[in-house]
Amino acid sequence: MPTVRRSSSTSWDTDDALVAVPADRPADPRLIDRFGRVATDLRVSLTDRCSLRCSYCMPPEGLDWLPTDDVLVDDEVVRLIALAVERLGVDEVRFTGGEPLLRRGLEEIVAATNQLRTWRGEAPKTAVTTNGLGLARRARALAAAGLRRVNVSIDTLDPRRFARITHRDRLPDVLAGLRAAESAGLTPIKLNAVLLRGVNDDEAVPLTRFALAHGYELRFIEQMPLDPQGAWSRTGMVTAAEILRRLGAELTLIPADPATRGAAPAETWLVADGGRRGRVGIVASVTRPFCGDCDRARLTADGQVRNCLFAGGETDLRGLLRAGASDEQIAQAWRGDMWAKRPGHGIDDPSFLQPARPMSAIGG
Ligand code: SAM
Ligand code: SF4
Repeated sequence: MPTVRRSSSTSWDTDDALVAVPADRPADPRLIDRFGRVATDLRVSLTDRCSLRCSYCMPPEGLDWLPTDDVLVDDEVVRLIALAVERLGVDEVRFTGGEPLLRRGLEEIVAATNQLRTWRGEAPKTAVTTNGLGLARRARALAAAGLRRVNVSIDTLDPRRFARITHRDRLPDVLAGLRAAESAGLTPIKLNAVLLRGVNDDEAVPLTRFALAHGYELRFIEQMPLDPQGAWSRTGMVTAAEILRRLGAELTLIPADPATRGAAPAETWLVADGGRRGRVGIVASVTRPFCGDCDRARLTADGQVRNCLFAGGETDLRGLLRAGASDEQIAQAWRGDMWAKRPGHGIDDPSFLQPARPMSAIGG
């Protein structure tokens, strides 16, 4: 019988799983933690592989990919999503990776997720975070499977820079993917952009204008220490304050109502450029952390749950699943993992250690 690994210090076997939840945890079926947070937004990584090599995420030669046998098969992924939705109170499911469009069974997994019902009796909200390669071919089928929305990552509008950042000359494919997502109704489309100093930090305004022109909502993401090369530095990172300065120099910005932010990681501004109006966001995980409002849970492609991108440990649900554990045993192990969530990511702590898994192997 495999053991369940959790935060390096706790382990139990499947027979113990029902009693292994910490004694101080209230009998609440949801994914609660000690600090009053409830995880309702599940990020599901479907692969650690990718069709691009964004310099801040992966080295050009790629990484040591997960062994195929370790990666959950479609039925296993769907079983874990089902118990998250039906037993643990999850009402939003985002598929990510690596690159989720590399997963052949994505449409089937989306369709099965769409059949589930949350405690409110509704289908969970679904979205895919993608680099857009291959979206032109699959947007229609994904929409037909019940997918609601896509987040597409695009760091530059310049084809040469795109090739420099991603090591692939594929900007036209991303743009074609965006058009296809729009015509398939996978809206509102959100764009993600990471600005890198001296590479694309002059594109804050052009990217925002592009988003406004197409009715997309752009979110800049502060670069986080999750690169396998360990090259991240606080001084090298382009901060939210710097992005706001650049935007404010050319565009009209008004802070959007903070009361409507909820657990959303992005702080948003209403933005106007001549006659064009829209909204732009900044996910300032490093300089303006939002850990106190976090509502996210994460499932990796190899069936480990993590209560935070920066968690020091994870819980092995794949081992339980393959050992024949019941849904309730697996749910209990997941509840126990979430109960151990730390109050914050601790990037500013002198003791901070970058997680062993890079972003692409956790799911961004
Ligand atoms: N491949 C898909 C994509 O790029 O959208 C999904 C996975 S990717 C890890 C999800 C998001 O994480 C992307 O928007 C990417 O730019 C962002 N990302 C990757 N590494 C990051 C890092 N070190 N800091 C901040 N964001 C990062
Ligand atoms: Fe791939 Fe996304 Fe990482 Fe870029 S950010 S290398 S597209 S996983």
